[in-house]
Amino acid sequence: MEKVTSGQRLHTCRACGKKFEYPVKGSAATRHHCENCADLPAETRKTLERLNTRVTQLEHQLKSLQAKAITPG
Ligand SMILES: [Zn+2]
Repeated sequence: MEKVTSGQRLHTCRACGKKFEYPVKGSAATRHHCENCADLPAETRKTLERLNTRVTQLEHQLKSLQAKAITPG
């Protein structure tokens, strides 16, 4: 696990999947989006969120497939 400084929590950006601390003083980051993605136009961010959701799902599927491959039965 990654260490988190007190008062700040590690959030995962919905658009790019990056882990970021929130809240950070002077940062444009929001609860759901890192500083970079908070700056993007809403339509662009929406597309990124959709892609990121798919990537996350694929990662889970890949992991479960790998787990099955390692432990037969
Ligand atoms: Zn982001």
